[in-house]
Amino acid sequence: MTGVRTALVIGGGIAGPVTALALRRAGIEATVHEAYETPADGLGGWLQVAPNGLEALRILGAADTVEASGRPIRRTIIADGRGRKFGAYTGVPGLPPGRALRRSELYRLLHDHAAAQGVRVEHGRRLDGVEETDDGVTARFADGSTATADVLVGADGIRSTVRTLVDPEAPGPAYAGLIAFAGRADLTVPGPPDTMHYVFGRRAFLGHWTGPDGRTVWFGNLPRPEPMTAAQAREVPAAEWLEVLREAYADDVPGGDLLRHTEAAELSAVGALEILPAVPRWHRGRMVLAGDAAHAPSPSSGQGVALAVESAVQLARCLRDLPDVPAAFSAYERLRRDRVEKIAASAARTNSRKASGRLARMLMSVTAPIAMRTFATPRRMFGWMHGYRIDWDETVTP
Ligand SMILES: Cc1cc2nc3c(=O)[nH]c(=O)nc-3n(C[C@H](O)[C@H](O)[C@H](O)COP(=O)(O)OP(=O)(O)OC[C@H]3O[C@@H](n4cnc5c(N)ncnc54)[C@H](O)[C@@H]3O)c2cc1C
Repeated sequence: MTGVRTALVIGGGIAGPVTALALRRAGIEATVHEAYETPADGLGGWLQVAPNGLEALRILGAADTVEASGRPIRRTIIADGRGRKFGAYTGVPGLPPGRALRRSELYRLLHDHAAAQGVRVEHGRRLDGVEETDDGVTARFADGSTATADVLVGADGIRSTVRTLVDPEAPGPAYAGLIAFAGRADLTVPGPPDTMHYVFGRRAFLGHWTGPDGRTVWFGNLPRPEPMTAAQAREVPAAEWLEVLREAYADDVPGGDLLRHTEAAELSAVGALEILPAVPRWHRGRMVLAGDAAHAPSPSSGQGVALAVESAVQLARCLRDLPDVPAAFSAYERLRRDRVEKIAASAARTNSRKASGRLARMLMSVTAPIAMRTFATPRRMFGWMHGYRIDWDETVTP
């Protein structure tokens, strides 16, 4: 037992409330400090919580509510722009199906669950700096207020302030060469509704699935050498983006139809697709990183939320079981680093396939079906990623 009784969790997105919940389960009183004045209800598009994320949420008592609200995804089909299937696979046998839901809904469910368990979220608290002593850490906020606790967890996202306080040389997010878009088409693609489709089209990648109202939810990644922030992407009128996207997907099945049946009001320009390079230092003194602040494996992995929950649970176990803070933070990093970096590397390979030229795509359309038919079973491809389990009751050793 580290003797840690209190924690400041910086950031009230997804990782923040989940980390506070996990710490609370380990007997540590954690308060979340969020920069924005109001809750982020209604923000963000759709995402998928992978089976390993659901299992980690189960430890925190939050899986049932996510499973009840999210749409189960039981099958994935990968195809090219002509509609030729590379492969189709069901989930890994024995694991729950992943769940697709709006980020805003996931945010609300997790925040409500955390509040019901007694987690407090303080809004309007943008972290500016920290002061550490031998027995505590004090956070300074932009509004002039301060808060003190035994440890401070940076769950403040991919552009984390805590990461630079831990290590001023820490890397920031890198551009993956793709601009992301999301939309909803007034069209139902025939087929079972619990199926996620990934289409490596002639010029760009498109994912789609049938939303709860029968309309098709899609997300596209357009290759582009220059990065573009979400704010810059939103400056371009949606009607102009729609023209660009209709052109990019014109010859693809079903991309062409989906874009023709998407209204400008149903289109969001998400901006640059980013990936966080390996972060050399995860902790210093009484500060430690969690969620996207430590590991943002790029949306192409579908693992950001799952990894944030896994890390929250592992950090709490380490603080519960180990003799002091340095030992706990080192064990936490040891438990997590290889796994999150392997997932980020796999997402980086997916990103380069998405950004690749026509020739590489043609080659993939020849080699991928052979791989799918021979060695690429769901268990081999995803068992290690989706089958990750944490035993909460097992004691962590140094
Ligand atoms: C387009 C897109 C699609 C995605 N799809 C998926 C998917 O299908 N599946 C999946 O698992 N993941 C997906 N992800 C990733 C997932 O959204 C993230 O991994 C997850 O939200 C991580 O949460 P977080 O809490 O670490 O960061 P965030 O959600 O970014 O939260 C960080 C919080 O910290 C606050 N903050 C920042 N700075 C400070 C400060 N100085 N002081 C106080 N507060 C601060 C912010 O306001 C914010 O509320 C996707 C991401 C994107 C961009």
